[in-house]
Amino acid sequence: MSASSVDSLDDVLAARLATQRERQRYRRRVTTTGKVAEKGGHLRREGRETLAFCSNDYLGLAGDPRLAQALAEGARRFGTGGGASHLVCGHSEAHEHLESRLAELAGCQRAVLFSSGYQANLGVISTLLGRGDVALHDRLNHASLLDATRLAGATLERYTHRDSDDCGARLSEVEAARRKLVVTDGVFSMDGDTAELEPLATHCERHRAWLMIDDAHGFGVLGAHGGGTREAQGLDPSRIAVTVGTLGKAFGTQGAFVAGSETLIDALIQFSRPYIYTTSLSPALAWATLTSLDIVRDEPERRVHLLSLIERFRRGAASLSEFDLHLTPSATPIQPLVIGSSWSTTGEGRQENRQGVNEAAALRLSAELESAGLWCSAIRPPSVPAGTSRLRFTLSAAHTHEDIDRLLSALFTTARRLSSARRRLA
Ligand code: PMP
Repeated sequence: MSASSVDSLDDVLAARLATQRERQRYRRRVTTTGKVAEKGGHLRREGRETLAFCSNDYLGLAGDPRLAQALAEGARRFGTGGGASHLVCGHSEAHEHLESRLAELAGCQRAVLFSSGYQANLGVISTLLGRGDVALHDRLNHASLLDATRLAGATLERYTHRDSDDCGARLSEVEAARRKLVVTDGVFSMDGDTAELEPLATHCERHRAWLMIDDAHGFGVLGAHGGGTREAQGLDPSRIAVTVGTLGKAFGTQGAFVAGSETLIDALIQFSRPYIYTTSLSPALAWATLTSLDIVRDEPERRVHLLSLIERFRRGAASLSEFDLHLTPSATPIQPLVIGSSWSTTGEGRQENRQGVNEAAALRLSAELESAGLWCSAIRPPSVPAGTSRLRFTLSAAHTHEDIDRLLSALFTTARRLSSARRRLA
């Protein structure tokens, strides 16, 4: 084949990029300057001060000077980088110590660290399942859990969001499968609602399936001790086979862990390729995360304050429904505002058009808030189902009640203005 008959790499990719632009799906990275959370949830966005409602720094620890100091101390003691994978010579005392503390927080026998939550999910599912096995997912699970199932080569099945009876019914359908893993987010990242773990555990026990929970957004935030969704719901840890937590959100650092039985963790260390073939998490970060754990334990008032912010926001935002903007049933710091169908009534009325308008409305609202100095994410398909584009606000203990009031006031002003502009056009 002559070289000229092969499409050039740039041509192939440029065509994909052009489609992405046409569909208004092209995403731009925004560069922040300066550090997070020095003054509450404020960030410098391309040189301009903004009040951010889009980070996962739920307890306001990412900019805490105590963590910065612990990170520097960790770097002096253990080095900035792990230098090798855990099974070669990259496993330090800092990692070992952090793993014990995380196992304790999760209420499990043992835990193992990964460099990110994405990697932890790949590492667990690809170790537990293979061809002929079934991973049964909540329909709104995080993308990394779906990718992990594909990597494992297992069959991917889904049950209706938060519907444990549907989960049970689907487990009956796959009764003959060799191994069955039910997988759920603890807190759903795009909706902020939580899985009901007890009925899921019961169905798993009845059908001899294993239960895995990815509590990336729950650890540190939910439960009296920050032990996550399981602690908040009072479920015995022994009823969950695998728990995943991340360190880049409430704990303000980076990385992730898997917690479970001694045997599960031993098997991951021996067999999990995403664990074995990668450099260990920075030991300095592992050391700093020990300070995060101390703060999570010793300063429950951060969680109490965060809860009061969530209540204040929900009380204030409920009446945005008059503008066809709807809160999801969430009691967590993830507070989305879904754009209702009346925002999509312009145009030809064709389905794609309506979806396009729904997405454009989310972008428009987010841009308007940005000009008022507020930063939030417009979440659109494929991250959420078509026609349910939304603004997703994430609250943090670094915010104040005044910050919430400022957000609410800007939301009402923007919604009122855009709604009357729409009415004039209609
Ligand atoms: N699981 C869930 C539910 C998440 O929301 C995320 C990240 N947003 C991850 C896993 C991935 O974690 P990490 O960012 O540490 O890779």
